[in-house]
Amino acid sequence: SVPLLLHYIFYRRVVSPGCSNFLLLGPSGAGKTALFSLLEAKTSHLSKRTSQLTHTSQTSTVATIALPPSIPTASNRYRSVNDPSLKEISRNPIKYRLKDTPGHGKLRESQGLSQLLLMSKSKEPNTRLRGVIFVVDTAALSEDEALRDTASYLHDVLLILQKRALNRGKSSSKLATEIPVLVAANKQDLFTALPPGSVREKLQAEIDRIRKTKSKGLMDAGAVDTEEDILGNDDGLDNFSFKLLEDEVGVTVDVIGGAVKEDNKEDLGSGVQKWEEWIGMCL
Ligand code: GDP
Repeated sequence: SVPLLLHYIFYRRVVSPGCSNFLLLGPSGAGKTALFSLLEAKTSHLSKRTSQLTHTSQTSTVATIALPPSIPTASNRYRSVNDPSLKEISRNPIKYRLKDTPGHGKLRESQGLSQLLLMSKSKEPNTRLRGVIFVVDTAALSEDEALRDTASYLHDVLLILQKRALNRGKSSSKLATEIPVLVAANKQDLFTALPPGSVREKLQAEIDRIRKTKSKGLMDAGAVDTEEDILGNDDGLDNFSFKLLEDEVGVTVDVIGGAVKEDNKEDLGSGVQKWEEWIGMCL
């Protein structure tokens, strides 16, 4: 019935915040903690009640974050500004859960990957992973070592999501959605920062090198049927691109620029707004 349906939508979208989980990943120094703290601070500004919901453990920090009411979601983007449900949203913002993984250097990365494995396998609606936010320091990427580090971490993240996607493809639930990745090209305020377009190209080219090396290693070792272990689910001989991954596996990667430090500025589209829009489209 209609009232029941409305109640269900209301309950899912407004009352129950635990359904949509996002995981923050990325190399150390990229700005994950800064982003996490900013979104948390903006949330307590929007509603004082949620400010004490941060939960810290040895392996992760979780906070319930409110989406600013001005940011559209996949379900309300076509509504007019006069829609009464939008008033309800500004009184009671749509929320999602964000998880940051503490630790340093390699430890942080292995913790991040194990969190990803755990969350991406979850079948519980409350712990199901809705999206991955992979934060990148775009001012550091012109250095070869930082680029290699960042790309190999992203490669491992995408391979986990690829394996999940291919496994699910074999089972019956083909219709369920894949977990998308936002590459948050952070620190665009710095004049040494690479623009998002070249961040995308550099990451694709470096990931291409990584998977060609891996593909050759597997072939030299005489392994057969290795495509699933190669990012892009092919023989690794063609050039890698995020488009290839989307076409072959269904996992999407968006590279979007922003700056945690610039979020107070009045400029539309600066700060973290475009990332919040990406999150909104997952909700
Ligand atoms: P994490 O290791 O990924 O958690 O990185 P942090 O959040 O600790 O950030 C690392 C450093 O980058 C800190 O000194 C932050 O203040 C700085 N930082 C984070 N975001 C930005 C940004 O958008 N612009 C600039 N210029 N610095 C930033």
